[in-house]
Amino acid sequence: MKIGLAQIIQESNTFSPFKTELKDFYNQYFYLGKDIYDGFKNTKLELNGMIDVLNANNLEHIPLLATHGSCSGPLTRECFSSILNDLQKVLLDAPMLDGLLLALHGSLSIEDEPDGESEILELIQTIISKNIPIGVSLDLHGHITERMLKNNVFYIGYKTYPHIDLYATGEKTAKILVSTLNKEIKPKMVLSKLPLIISPVCGRTDEGPMKSIYDDLQNFTKNDNILDVSCFMVQPWLDYNDLGFATLVCSNNDMDKAKIVSDSICEKVWKIRNTLVPDLTPLVEAIEIGLSSNGTTVIGDCGDAPSGGSAGDNPTILKTLLDLGLDKADKNIYLTLVDPRAAKAACNSGVGSELKLELGYYFSKYEGKPLKIKARVKAITDGSFKIKHGLEGVEMQFGLTTLLTIGSISIAVRSYGGLEWDVGQYTSVGLDLKDASIVFVKSPSHFRAGYSSHSEQIIIADTPGSTCCDIKKIKYKNIKRQVHPLDEI
Ligand SMILES: [Zn+2]
Repeated sequence: MKIGLAQIIQESNTFSPFKTELKDFYNQYFYLGKDIYDGFKNTKLELNGMIDVLNANNLEHIPLLATHGSCSGPLTRECFSSILNDLQKVLLDAPMLDGLLLALHGSLSIEDEPDGESEILELIQTIISKNIPIGVSLDLHGHITERMLKNNVFYIGYKTYPHIDLYATGEKTAKILVSTLNKEIKPKMVLSKLPLIISPVCGRTDEGPMKSIYDDLQNFTKNDNILDVSCFMVQPWLDYNDLGFATLVCSNNDMDKAKIVSDSICEKVWKIRNTLVPDLTPLVEAIEIGLSSNGTTVIGDCGDAPSGGSAGDNPTILKTLLDLGLDKADKNIYLTLVDPRAAKAACNSGVGSELKLELGYYFSKYEGKPLKIKARVKAITDGSFKIKHGLEGVEMQFGLTTLLTIGSISIAVRSYGGLEWDVGQYTSVGLDLKDASIVFVKSPSHFRAGYSSHSEQIIIADTPGSTCCDIKKIKYKNIKRQVHPLDEI
């Protein structure tokens, strides 16, 4: 039997100042055919898990297309059509498939269409027969829609946030597909939704209110007819009518049982909804706590997180530090900022030089004016390093990066944003976290996997930007009301 393999992943944020273009996918990676094997050689992603299961079952895999567009604004229609054209070409050139394994996100949207995943699946089903089973892995921040439910398509979501089970999710998706092809099971999906938006700060699965919900999921699969239960806390920065928490149950042809399970989980989550509102620390308070503590305090700048689609160019933290006079403090503070213009100017000025420059709001122009600063250039790098936590082995590329210092404040100024999950973003510019009193990370939660062992404490600060973590402050226009926590329900 021949199984096709493909991946099209992007997490959209309708509040982002960007539209996602084809170059954003190519900047990450864009593999066609057998190049996928080389590209994924040292990673532990969904496709790796899928490939290993197919190999273990002596099934032939046909690599089609694999790309990642990171997290940013919705795709331009031109970008999306181009990717689908490539997918169509490789599918038409492929031998007759018996099954297909797909790694998707669940929150990919297009500038004129909220539900990109459904368009991908609909295209695939027009090329291969609708009778061919398709197994899809999804991120637990997927925005799950009724339209995604299609005959012969089943979905398996991550069970961890921070996401550390990409490989395991791929494995599970592939195992269910193999059993389906062996005619041992018939996967059927049931979806239940809640009018509830969970702040990513409260959505951790290793501690906090959602832990017990996720811990419990595997108990449901002890029932023979329940193959998998996935909960989707949804990417909150999508201004769409039907946005909300979702549970997807994959049953072995037992929709009634699946509906009972799916509704019961939603009921449990609804009961704890008031515990899912984050208690964010005001920025100045977070800084004070960090400075008065021993060791390194890591502060999550959740409002400007590129992992959720922000530009990473909001200079509020730097401005606050300078206003507090902390450039003259005897404790080191590290932060990052995206500003290609400043990175280039500092690079041209050279290591050791001091220069005046404007910093911040390079992309988010409508949010404010850049800061005028004077800084010293300490290091210049190409901004690349290997991620050790979260997306193990993937090479992170922030583009031309310069390390600037203003007194005791060190700023890694890079050309574009990316996932701030790994300490490599500081060590690659020559900074040691042990030497800092405060380290800022533009991420709401996922950074914990990489930063916990390098810090005495972690604080999440209430910071502005297009990934604002206080759901009540998000400027939704289209979301269907009533919805918790915007409304008291
Ligand atoms: Zn996610």
